[in-house]
Amino acid sequence: MRTIGLLGGMSWESTAVYYRRLNENVRDRLGGLRSAKVIMHSVDFESIVELQKADAWDQAGTVLATLARNLETAGADCVLICTNTMHKLADTVQDAISIPLLHITDVTGQAVASAGYRRPLLLATRYTMEQDFYLSRLRDRHGLAPLVPDAEDRTAVHDIIFNELCCGVVRESSRQRYLEIIATAQAAGADSVILGCTEIGLLIGPQHFALPAFDSTLLHADAAVAFAMERHGEPTRSAA
Ligand code: GLU
Repeated sequence: MRTIGLLGGMSWESTAVYYRRLNENVRDRLGGLRSAKVIMHSVDFESIVELQKADAWDQAGTVLATLARNLETAGADCVLICTNTMHKLADTVQDAISIPLLHITDVTGQAVASAGYRRPLLLATRYTMEQDFYLSRLRDRHGLAPLVPDAEDRTAVHDIIFNELCCGVVRESSRQRYLEIIATAQAAGADSVILGCTEIGLLIGPQHFALPAFDSTLLHADAAVAFAMERHGEPTRSAA
């Protein structure tokens, strides 16, 4: 089994979901006491948020590239940036390492497209919903026509992520706000929903709304496990 490298802590609330999902997935596949081989660097998120707010993306890229190199040196066979937003810097990080960066937009876009959907509502931070790095990748590489909420709703989605979910706060009123935004998008023709921020799954999931949901956190973690197992002849429980 290959070793999975995580750039985590953005926020740690969602990195904890990654860690659990990676290990549950490996246990489900291999059984017994099998668990994922993981190396993680978990940042102090406040320092990253300061760079985001200061529009100092180059500096943030240098930080993440250095940490990714450290993961490679420590023995990781791949790197996951455990946040959608920081995939704005994915090329900088990939250029710094010789192991693959598993790109969250590609994993998520592929899942949506291969399930036969085309017009997903993208729920994410304002950076992800308003800048082009994520939307253009969904369009150009995966043939999707993503929708985003209007400006007022984007602010609500973004503020709930940073002021509540990243701080471990889950409010029913915020869940209802998200569900209203999804209902509006459905009326406007959305055929699915991308949970395009790694904390959103803490608030809403497929049990809360009718449109098909694509949770970037879970899809990303599952892609890492698939990578860790591939070509390594790990017998699965059913085959063992
Ligand atoms: N975890 C979030 C994401 O997936 C937001 C935190 C960040 O800005 O990195 O985009």
